[in-house]
Amino acid sequence: MGRPRRIAIVGGGVAGLAAAYQLGQLFHQNESVDIVLYESSSRLGGIVETVREGGFVLEGGPDGWVSEKPWARELAGELGLDDELVFSNDAERRTYVLLDGILKAMPNGMRMMVPTNLDALDTSDLFSAEAKQAFHHEVSRASELKEQAPRSDESVAQFVRRHFGDEVLDKIGAPLLSGVFGGDVAQLSVRAVMAPFVAMEREHGSLIAGLKAREASEKRPPLFTTLRSGLGTLIDRMVATIPQHWIRLGVETKAIRREQDGWTVSSSLGMEHFDTIFLATPLHVTRMLLEPVAPQASALMQMQASSAVVVAFGFDDAEQVPIPPGFGFLVPPGPQSMLLACTFMDQKFPDRVPPGGRLLRAFFGGRAATRVLPCSNDEIAAIARMELARILRPLPDPRVTVIRRWPQSLPQYAVGHLERMEELEGCVHRLGGLYLLGNGYRGVGLPDLIRDARSAVRSAMRG
Ligand SMILES: Cc1cc2nc3c(=O)[nH]c(=O)nc-3n(C[C@H](O)[C@H](O)[C@H](O)COP(=O)(O)OP(=O)(O)OC[C@H]3O[C@@H](n4cnc5c(N)ncnc54)[C@H](O)[C@@H]3O)c2cc1C
Repeated sequence: MGRPRRIAIVGGGVAGLAAAYQLGQLFHQNESVDIVLYESSSRLGGIVETVREGGFVLEGGPDGWVSEKPWARELAGELGLDDELVFSNDAERRTYVLLDGILKAMPNGMRMMVPTNLDALDTSDLFSAEAKQAFHHEVSRASELKEQAPRSDESVAQFVRRHFGDEVLDKIGAPLLSGVFGGDVAQLSVRAVMAPFVAMEREHGSLIAGLKAREASEKRPPLFTTLRSGLGTLIDRMVATIPQHWIRLGVETKAIRREQDGWTVSSSLGMEHFDTIFLATPLHVTRMLLEPVAPQASALMQMQASSAVVVAFGFDDAEQVPIPPGFGFLVPPGPQSMLLACTFMDQKFPDRVPPGGRLLRAFFGGRAATRVLPCSNDEIAAIARMELARILRPLPDPRVTVIRRWPQSLPQYAVGHLERMEELEGCVHRLGGLYLLGNGYRGVGLPDLIRDARSAVRSAMRG
């Protein structure tokens, strides 16, 4: 028998774990393969972390996934978590936007910045008469928009402005996208972050007409899915399927090197040789590891990444924390508040709180996140409470507070991203035996990362 094939996974967030899970499915108990998962911190899951305390289910990172993308749900099913799936209360779905210090509801039927219900739009007090007219006008400009659709990538700001104008961009486009992609809409690539809308423009010209056609022909699933006991359970279940001797916690990978017959990984445990490496570290770490080995690849990864700080407050008595019905609010960029958004967790998903409780999750993003990152937990909690009090009303003392800092966690997919990623894929492919996983490349959401990791393992094992 030849020597076992050796495989390294660097990074034990959801991307690295999904790769390890997939390898586990293929090679459990198979002595012809030797697998090592390096994780620098003392826990697995990376940005995915659930704290369960006092009957509250508090998410430190993601709180669910977009149901339309099937890959997280498929994995949950394989892990025996079908009974754990819970869906967003879409009947109660309503998102507010902070305008001049007041929460104004987005009209019913909005899909991001595109309305599906023009009557609801007309009665909304979020938009001016001019913005409402721009929405109505978009439908009649369909053929002009179709003809003028650019042949190359453009920014989200340019795309939204062409369809609906500045007001819609500023009031909802910017806060919606900067929350998810941590970016500036003037830089973000529309093809990378809003591909379905770009396709709709090509086919229908008008996005409003395109959405109407799509929604007439398909039944929409609930918008978001999560797990009753929290997303940490997805991590725990994956970990439970992975042979424990694969896992090296608290071991930081410091460098990688290309050898004639594979790769070496240097860590605090010394140097080890592998045939294949899956790099599932945050983008800035992967870039640093690749720099000496493949400067051209590393240069293609020079994107900015913004930070996020999450503050979750669990309150015993919901009546003392009155909030409007709905899932939460967004704050357009500007001086109104340091917060980027707040989710009303107990209204978005069932089973997040003990009876009568209330759970709010506030986010700092962009520059505000960079400012609060170095503050102590007490300071961050005080700032979040003060900002929430200005928008909602003074808050009682929470029973539970969870604070998580995620520096450089949201890479910005700038204009031209898809072309750069194609080039990067070419560079990485030429190196051989190397796969890049994580949220810097082909999507930031959990379903994207799971799909990507599993398909990278399948193709590595074929190769
Ligand atoms: C605040 C916030 C909210 C979000 N909400 C949602 C949401 O609701 N739904 C959704 O689908 N997505 C959401 N996302 C996006 C999603 O959570 C992330 O894209 C995803 O969790 C990233 O996973 P990852 O495995 O790529 O990276 P990470 O989770 O960052 O994992 C990387 C791992 O690598 C380890 N590591 C780093 N350096 C080294 C080294 N040198 N050697 C070894 N190990 C190393 C780290 O410790 C970490 O465990 C959110 C993101 C943030 C920040």
